[in-house]
Amino acid sequence: MNYKRSSALFAQAETVIPGGVNSPVRAFKAVGGSPIFVKEAKGAYLYDEDGNRLIDYINSWGPMILGHAYEPVVNAVIDKAKKGTSFGMPTEIETKIAQLAVSMVPNIDKIRFVNSGTEACMSAVRLARGYTGKDKIIKFAGCYHGHSDSFLIQAGSGAVTFGSPNSPGVTQGTAKDTLLARYNDIENVSELIEANKNEIACIIIEPVAGNMGCIPPKGDFLVALRNLCDAHNILLIFDEVMTGFRLAKGGAQELFNINADIVCFGKVIGGGLPVGAFAARNEIMNHLAPLGPVYQAGTLSGNPLAMAAGLAMLNELNNNAEIFNRLAEKTAYLHKGIAKVLNENNITHTINRVGSMISVHFDKAKVVDFETAAKGNNDTFKTFFHGLLNEGVYIAPSAFETWFITDALSYEDLDFTIAAVNTVAKTL
Ligand code: PMP
Repeated sequence: MNYKRSSALFAQAETVIPGGVNSPVRAFKAVGGSPIFVKEAKGAYLYDEDGNRLIDYINSWGPMILGHAYEPVVNAVIDKAKKGTSFGMPTEIETKIAQLAVSMVPNIDKIRFVNSGTEACMSAVRLARGYTGKDKIIKFAGCYHGHSDSFLIQAGSGAVTFGSPNSPGVTQGTAKDTLLARYNDIENVSELIEANKNEIACIIIEPVAGNMGCIPPKGDFLVALRNLCDAHNILLIFDEVMTGFRLAKGGAQELFNINADIVCFGKVIGGGLPVGAFAARNEIMNHLAPLGPVYQAGTLSGNPLAMAAGLAMLNELNNNAEIFNRLAEKTAYLHKGIAKVLNENNITHTINRVGSMISVHFDKAKVVDFETAAKGNNDTFKTFFHGLLNEGVYIAPSAFETWFITDALSYEDLDFTIAAVNTVAKTL
């Protein structure tokens, strides 16, 4: 395929935007080459500036669960836009989407809308600290909760107890309050709690990790976390920015039948517009301003266009609950097909999958945490990525990402993808 115009546009962008992109992973740094510039998208397909059609397995990193330019969502946004795009005053639609979200998600009474997943997670942690009166948090190596300072803590050999910043600009003062644990390792979490008695406000986790590939929680790991939190007066925060309204109507809480204390949302809840949200029971949410002292605000929060897109999206999902099974079936079909052709071509690999999240790792050991995810062969991944791109299949340009399956994918698209993997496998 030819990507001349994309390359030229990237060169222009680089002169006025740092690295040519407004979010780093878009820049193809991990896989090399020049990023694709999108012109438009419809259903399961992206159309780039060079006129190529690509089957999309990123789907805006999750939100486009029903496909691009999904008509009910687009129409809702157009209708709203004609009536004014922002007021900074209450609107009825905010209550409507809040009512719907509260009815779909277990164990929440109130929800506050923000503008991104980062804001949702950052605010959830502040609320947890305000509610418990404690400062420290536990996060898991390889989990991503947005780019707020407390979360930009790298996993390293010395990171068992105290974190250290992995981004310049994050102060040691902030980093020392973020403790790092190994995903799927309950002993490790238990040790951290023991070593920091009565100091931990919350544990924040992606209930299915999607930022180191797709990593499911092992057996009763989430139950054990819930129990530890209960025993030590720690709030359990589920970051459902990826899993919310994707794995089930009620997200991972519903799928695994576990209640979190605070739940964070992003991606699907905004139907592709910039929306995040966090939610909890009244007892916790009532600590938030203006009811309580924990401050959190936003000029564009609850923006009418964003709420219209989100409401249209949630309505579709709420009224068509079979979507979640259908998505899981399509993902299982893809899993089976890819595994078959990779096996036939003797390519060492592991595939992880939960619902409509799936990732392919080029290592034979099980991928259960950041350490095992990092062992995957990155050179193989790069060849795999560029090979698929050349065949018209667009997956995330990094091995540390999940693929997001959209309902707009037909079985023909899935067969096309499996055939593309077969072609590429011969070059690996
Ligand atoms: N949490 C999770 C689990 C995420 O995957 C992301 C983004 N990929 C975020 C939080 C941050 O969301 P945003 O990029 O909208 O700030």
